[in-house]
Amino acid sequence: MTIQTIGTHPVAIGKNPERSRDHNRRVVLDVVRRHGSLGRAHIAKLSQLTPQAVANIVDELVGEGLLMEMGRLRSGRGQPPIQFAVNPEGGATIGVEIAADHMVTVALDLSGRLRAKRITSLKDTTPRHILASFTSELSTVRKSVGSKLLGTGVVMPGPFEIDGMTSVGPTTLPGWAGIDAAQALSEACGHTVVVENDATAAAVGERLFGAGLAISNFCMIYFGVGIGLGIIQDGAPYRGAFGNAGEIGHVTVVPKGRPCPSCGQLGCLEGYASVYVLKEKLGRAGMPECEFADLERLHRAEHPVVEEWIDEAATYLGPMVAMLENILDPQTVILGGALPDAIMDDIIARMGNLPTSVASRRQRDLPRVLRGQTGQLTAALGAAALPLFDMVTPKLETSLAGLADIPA
Ligand SMILES: [Zn+2]
Repeated sequence: MTIQTIGTHPVAIGKNPERSRDHNRRVVLDVVRRHGSLGRAHIAKLSQLTPQAVANIVDELVGEGLLMEMGRLRSGRGQPPIQFAVNPEGGATIGVEIAADHMVTVALDLSGRLRAKRITSLKDTTPRHILASFTSELSTVRKSVGSKLLGTGVVMPGPFEIDGMTSVGPTTLPGWAGIDAAQALSEACGHTVVVENDATAAAVGERLFGAGLAISNFCMIYFGVGIGLGIIQDGAPYRGAFGNAGEIGHVTVVPKGRPCPSCGQLGCLEGYASVYVLKEKLGRAGMPECEFADLERLHRAEHPVVEEWIDEAATYLGPMVAMLENILDPQTVILGGALPDAIMDDIIARMGNLPTSVASRRQRDLPRVLRGQTGQLTAALGAAALPLFDMVTPKLETSLAGLADIPA
């Protein structure tokens, strides 16, 4: 028997009791984290585990310092139940985003609070250079947090393992074709690293920490160096059969249009609306190597190259939003990632009247398009959440054996 459910539901994976035990531990931690503090019976009800299983897991987690006893809750008749809460000091997870031109590293404590962040620019994306930067950033952040490291998640631009599309263009990571990134990163830092597609992780980050907190079905258009889509469906990421769902950067928006910088086809969205194209245009106008702060400054000054790119991006993203709505029927579409907030606000404003779609209802709780709230950190936050929260799919489960199996 194989039952796989996502979210707070228990999982039974037939012949692998160790794996379901790890899963159930994370279900319990996640339920307690989301509710602040809970008694054993309440945990059992919410996690759909037996009271005996919950009692054992809670004892274990208290013993390991991941949960803490909060005393008894005053209630009606009888002995009030002991309450448990996650111990923020019980451990930390680290999330790293490796983009084509920068690396973002964050640490979260067990309650999901941001404890450290670093953003460094990358001039060289060859594996040797990236692995060295990754190891040194990881150890710097780890030292600044102090508590036990419970896991590390890394996000990189997808798509993964596609002939002709993998790691070939400037918006992916040159030099990484044919390299097992998870294995190389794990070997470099000495413990298991989970690797995820950047746009999916960004959607997870926004779901847990940003605009998606109260939204269980949304699409996130993610500006890395390229452009991707993360999909949250019923509160969990939708990844597709091979982890490549949402590769909208290579959807044709202009038949026989510009050659795509990454895949070589003509007229891909990425050739018009990506940060890569914006920076390339700025480079041609005599401003090479613009970073985040430069984009902010140029936008404030209403630089014509930035203005022209925003107009063009809005022109192609508007119909894309309507297409996503027609296909996936989300509550809203969130824009987020490596662009200054003011630029994203302008893109949204200039999309103007979006094409009619299934989302064109008169009564809407949310606008059709929202800007994300976690800024440049979004994908790294999602990466840090991968080992911490129960937001993972079966494919990731295998590399998450045990929450606390990493030597301190
Ligand atoms: Zn393309």
